[in-house]
Amino acid sequence: MSRTRGMHRCGTCRRWLRPGGTYTVAENESRELLGICLKSIKGIGKDVQLANASFIWTEPHSKELKVKLELQQEALVGVVVRQTVIVELRVNNLQCDECKKSYTKHTWDSSVQVRQRSEHRRTLMMLEQLILKHKAHTKLIQLTPTKEGLDFFFSKERDAQDFVSFLKNWAVVKHHESKHLVSHNAQNTTYRFKRTTCVEVCPICRDDLVFLPKKTAQALGGLPPLMLCLKASSQLCLVDPASSRCVEVASAEYWRKPFQSVSIPSKLTEFIVLDIEESDLARGRGGSAASVQPCEVEIARIADFGHNDERLTVRCHLGAILHVGDSVLGYDLRSLHLGMDEDELGGVPPLEVYLVKKKRPERTKKKKPHPKRGKGVLSTAASVQSSFLEPDREDKQPTMPAEDEHPEDMEDEAAEMKAAAEALLTQLGASGTFRLASLCHAWLDLGASFQIRR
Ligand SMILES: [Zn+2]
Repeated sequence: MSRTRGMHRCGTCRRWLRPGGTYTVAENESRELLGICLKSIKGIGKDVQLANASFIWTEPHSKELKVKLELQQEALVGVVVRQTVIVELRVNNLQCDECKKSYTKHTWDSSVQVRQRSEHRRTLMMLEQLILKHKAHTKLIQLTPTKEGLDFFFSKERDAQDFVSFLKNWAVVKHHESKHLVSHNAQNTTYRFKRTTCVEVCPICRDDLVFLPKKTAQALGGLPPLMLCLKASSQLCLVDPASSRCVEVASAEYWRKPFQSVSIPSKLTEFIVLDIEESDLARGRGGSAASVQPCEVEIARIADFGHNDERLTVRCHLGAILHVGDSVLGYDLRSLHLGMDEDELGGVPPLEVYLVKKKRPERTKKKKPHPKRGKGVLSTAASVQSSFLEPDREDKQPTMPAEDEHPEDMEDEAAEMKAAAEALLTQLGASGTFRLASLCHAWLDLGASFQIRR
């Protein structure tokens, strides 16, 4: 009989490995533990019988257990030999399957945390759509939605870096990296780090009304304090509706002197265009300013119809797309409280109404979004997404009007999206594309929250 044996226990959850391969909880010097010890000692039971067994005290932290066994054997007929044997059991640490599973997060080496700290995360939504469109998610191994954004996990540092540069190409972002030690091998002095890149997306989204602090406005070339955000991609494009002057704010410039939105599209008021007059003001500069056409419009609030005859004339930049009779959405500063005083506005009286965009006519018939056949999973995913989110385009109008639909329409839309995404998920599940499926799940969640927010 061997005097030394090995025992195995999980170093994480401290459970003991039974000879059968299962793990059980057993206290030090308990009967259960004694049972496990005896099972792993070979040679008991055949002709050698066990009369008694007990533990010999060892230091609780020592990796050794000592078991005193009283064995008896019938040497000759009627002659029983008794012997006391001390067996030493060495405790070997390993990791049980459950603990291994809970540590699978160690399979990623790099993560990218994308955050947009604003009331609505439309830029983030747009980014997701772009990620799908440009297949920037192919190296992704895991995606977790969080309260303020999304966490992307990569197995390689290089893939994470590629992803960060992709984001930089499409949005005004800043990032910082941090790394923490996961494991360290003292023998060959190797270190394993996990790198996390925090990417902060500028909180300003398209159609927001932004406030430029005095110094920022001066640095950007003497702009008025209130501007509209025409476009939010790799740079911000701002327009002053009063002068139709456009300015592009590069990412570096923005983060040097960040500014904030003071009003977001959920606070838009609907007006109707009663009259329109082209203005001969100079066109704004900048590439995206082609659609910017200064004009003066006479508008009336839709809510005032039938109550009063209040109308007002404002300057705006939507001359190229507005016509008499159109519905137009704008920030009504007469009723909106921006939380700023005259001083901050620099004595320049802001416009009474900042017209933002034309309201699209409501669709008469709802189209059911159905996955396109024969175009592959990715394009299908992208098409589902494109109907989820509002694309950031200047010329072409979004397929789904963003904020200007009836609530019941929106609910229907949300339900349809959900159904389409779920159909896609089943399809994905069948083909075993787990990664994409988890991606879709995350989008489903985000899509839902997006719908609710609106
Ligand atoms: Zn364990």
